[in-house]
Amino acid sequence: MITAYHRPKTIPEALDLLKQNDTFPLGGGTLLSQLKSDSIEVVDLQSLNLDTLKKKGNYVVVGATVTLQQILKSSHTPEDLKSALQLEAPLNIRNAATIAGALVAGDGRSPFVTALLALDAKLTTQPDDEQIEIGNFLATRDKGSIPNLISAITLPTHAVLAFEHVGRTPKDKPIVCAALASWPSGRSRLALGGYGVVPLLAMDGTEPEGLESAARNAFKEAKDDWASADYRMDVAATLAMRCLEKIQRD
Ligand SMILES: Cc1cc2nc3c(=O)[nH]c(=O)nc-3n(C[C@H](O)[C@H](O)[C@H](O)COP(=O)(O)OP(=O)(O)OC[C@H]3O[C@@H](n4cnc5c(N)ncnc54)[C@H](O)[C@@H]3O)c2cc1C
Repeated sequence: MITAYHRPKTIPEALDLLKQNDTFPLGGGTLLSQLKSDSIEVVDLQSLNLDTLKKKGNYVVVGATVTLQQILKSSHTPEDLKSALQLEAPLNIRNAATIAGALVAGDGRSPFVTALLALDAKLTTQPDDEQIEIGNFLATRDKGSIPNLISAITLPTHAVLAFEHVGRTPKDKPIVCAALASWPSGRSRLALGGYGVVPLLAMDGTEPEGLESAARNAFKEAKDDWASADYRMDVAATLAMRCLEKIQRD
């Protein structure tokens, strides 16, 4: 239950409020407003001017409170990232949920977080403008450590992204999804989702050789109620190769 609501106008004011126990940043509130048992206070971020997307050279800086729908509509967003966003949540949720909220709350089945992991997104955190790589963020988040305030997420615009998925139905959350990002330098990064607490980074290298086996290896233990590990290994390898073909074709 939310027992107090704060709407600061500056980041220092927000950080001061967030120092209190059981006080959390409020993005779109789609998840936070559902918590019923614990008494919490929320710090609404909507007046902090963190709701813009800005192109800076080969990157786009996405403010923490930019909604998933804003990203889907942006001309800076690659088509395959839009596909991942459409699977992430229906329109009403996308209109409210924010990029930072999705990163903090998204699990291993999240197509959007999988795509951001492939793109090697960087999170800017406050108070020090510290940049954290998404891989490190997800690894520490897994252990319960979340930065007090994420202010922005930086995505490369010079990397090409391919996203493929398999689910029970075309619009269902994937049982397996693969996102492959490729940079002009030759760097390739493969992330897999559809399983577990956070998506997995299967490969980050300069050669696409070994992509298929990297996809298989990453899902060696990916067994749950939805699918066996053998099934996921086969599908992940196939989707990874489809991503590679898509990138080489375009
Ligand atoms: C009907 C429905 C279906 C849903 N289905 C799914 C689903 O299938 N899978 C799934 O993963 N989620 C699901 N969600 C949960 C939720 O919609 C998403 O995880 C969403 O992206 C959260 O974004 P938000 O901005 O609404 O976050 P909020 O609810 O505002 O916050 C979520 C968490 O992120 C933290 N946070 C928010 N912004 C920041 C910031 N700037 N810095 C630091 N921490 C921050 C909050 O403190 C909180 O801990 C669903 C929600 C609803 C209502």
